[in-house]
Amino acid sequence: MKQIRSYIPQYLLRLHEADWHCQCPTCQQDYPFVIIDWQDQRRYSASLSCERVAQDILFNADAFVLHSAEEMSAAAWQPNQLQQKINQGCINLAISDAGDIPVKLYAIGIYINQMMKLSADDVAQITRCGEEFSRLLAQGALAEHFDLLPVISKYKLQAVRALSATRLDTTLDARAGMALSLKLNEFTVLADNYLEQNLTALDQDAQLATFMQQHRQLWQNFILYRCYHHLFPLNSQDAFLALCGDVYLLKILCGLLIQSEIELDEVRISALFAAMERQPVRLTCDADMLLVGLSLLK
Ligand SMILES: [Zn+2]
Repeated sequence: MKQIRSYIPQYLLRLHEADWHCQCPTCQQDYPFVIIDWQDQRRYSASLSCERVAQDILFNADAFVLHSAEEMSAAAWQPNQLQQKINQGCINLAISDAGDIPVKLYAIGIYINQMMKLSADDVAQITRCGEEFSRLLAQGALAEHFDLLPVISKYKLQAVRALSATRLDTTLDARAGMALSLKLNEFTVLADNYLEQNLTALDQDAQLATFMQQHRQLWQNFILYRCYHHLFPLNSQDAFLALCGDVYLLKILCGLLIQSEIELDEVRISALFAAMERQPVRLTCDADMLLVGLSLLK
């Protein structure tokens, strides 16, 4: 047994205050609370696949305020130093005041790519790299680079085709659920050029753009959840592609509801995020995962 530091996020404290009666599809199977334990740290968490948990994580600015304590642990597993540093570096970029969500994700993707070239012993270089990226993001330099990225539709089409082929198990109310499945079914029969026109229209939809701006905190918390709960990216660039894919497809789902004139309230948004967490849409790719991930951000 060893003395370690443990962390409890604010969202969990709030959830524990109430008796647990959630009847969402996740809670009907299992209790959503988990402990992520390694040799020198313990993180208390709950799965975003539960709708009640999703709502608390996504809609509270203080969800990831962490409360710390000393505890004893006998955990055997240990992420290496580099994995822990990259995880912390991603958290630092996610919580930066600068940059819209796509720019933060761009920063995270390029940062991970640079860091994975380093060895865990290269402590000075690891620290310098994290500071450098935070500074470039704060100065707006990464936003300028991001603006220069070309728009590539190919991978957006593939991602939406994968989404259409997945029967998302949401608990949306009948009207919203019906509207969404009609749109997604329509997508499955559209030829590529028509589907591309639809996706471009969504990318340019002013109401969706406003929604994304107004819910910046929600998307930031979604990235923080990935870092805190899943120790993103741990050891692979597929994790970055999966995160970009989820953000892109959740944005599309929100856009489709907006187009159907269905109000995006907290309950509906939480149901969408929880469903995607329960049933992730797996993206395959025939090219560099970083580039494919980045192409989903523009
Ligand atoms: Zn639940």
